[in-house]
Amino acid sequence: MTNDKAFEEPRNSRPVSRNHPQEVTELRSSGRTQRIMMKKCKKCLLPDIVPGADIDASGECSLCRARSPDAQATSAASKYREDLEATLKAARNHPGSEYDCVVPLSGGKDSLYLLHRLKVDYGLRVLAFTCDIDLPPVAWDNIRLALRKLDIDHVVFRPAYGFLTKLFRYLLCNQEARGAVYTVSYVYAPLFEGAAIRLALEKNIPLILAGYSPGQPEPERMLYEFDPALIRSEDWTPPHLVESGEFSADELAAFYNPLKLPENTTFPRYLAPYHAWDYDQDQVICKVTELGLVQRSSHASPIVSNYPINWLMMFSDLKHFGYNPYVPEFSALIREGKASRNYWRLATPVVNFMIRNKIGLGREVRRSMNWLSLAEADLRITLPRGAYDPPLLRRA
Ligand SMILES: [Zn+2]
Repeated sequence: MTNDKAFEEPRNSRPVSRNHPQEVTELRSSGRTQRIMMKKCKKCLLPDIVPGADIDASGECSLCRARSPDAQATSAASKYREDLEATLKAARNHPGSEYDCVVPLSGGKDSLYLLHRLKVDYGLRVLAFTCDIDLPPVAWDNIRLALRKLDIDHVVFRPAYGFLTKLFRYLLCNQEARGAVYTVSYVYAPLFEGAAIRLALEKNIPLILAGYSPGQPEPERMLYEFDPALIRSEDWTPPHLVESGEFSADELAAFYNPLKLPENTTFPRYLAPYHAWDYDQDQVICKVTELGLVQRSSHASPIVSNYPINWLMMFSDLKHFGYNPYVPEFSALIREGKASRNYWRLATPVVNFMIRNKIGLGREVRRSMNWLSLAEADLRITLPRGAYDPPLLRRA
């Protein structure tokens, strides 16, 4: 993908002090690959290449500069906490149902620890639910170990392989403006979130509790709770998939659509407890290791338990945007003291290097390209922002 002749001197030749972290990145624009030195915010590691980062002479980004003790966020969190405590208490031994809550389980540290909190600390009858969309083996090891340890029932839904292959391939060849991670995540997340809602409806379970950490998913989709209007009255079928004419009605029926449900349906609430509780990434890794929900702490790493196809999505975005699309999310956690700056200062450049060169964990890039019969030139942004978003989110 690189063309040596096209390399240019680092765009930013101003000397930068050792305090200011940097990383060499490659950016492809108008058919040329440029190598540029990317400065990063000294506090949260946000790269200057991220739109709006605006790193000043002192080395701080605009988001860190704007940060003051955020009274609004604190009061929102305490409101969420109050609601969550009351909701979990009321859900215990929910009459007319075998279970009190569905917990979507990916095998990542956050969903594993959530199972423990709900079953052990809150005494809820938990039904774990895994939508098997290309989960890595380490995630399955974690799932088996944790479920055995916690003695929790489990349902697995595996969408048809041919459909998933076709869907991923189509999305990567027809990305919306925000790139591959956004496009693919926000089509497949609704796919498994919708499957969890269907399971809750079928078993009359009042609550779905997801292990999303602060910063996940996109705030316009959900913070602490999915907008009930989204669950009750919005077709989740991505509009562009319908317009494309590439997918049959049967295939599109994989997406959740409450408009097809009977009028007297009682809908579950869909909450993300980590948005209400104090969250600390390192602490969750320690806890799941201590509790024996993973074999060793490396199995709780967000890098290792990643969906394998994510490596290809990150590869595509690195090529188009020059920075790792997960970096703004992790920078936000660092800014809020919820993730370790030292860990990500070292890990991000290593991860990006592996992805670009398809080595180490980055070998998954090649595996996914073979799986989906894709060449690098097929990874294209062709659609406007929001092409796959349900209308309710487009209006947001
Ligand atoms: Zn910053």
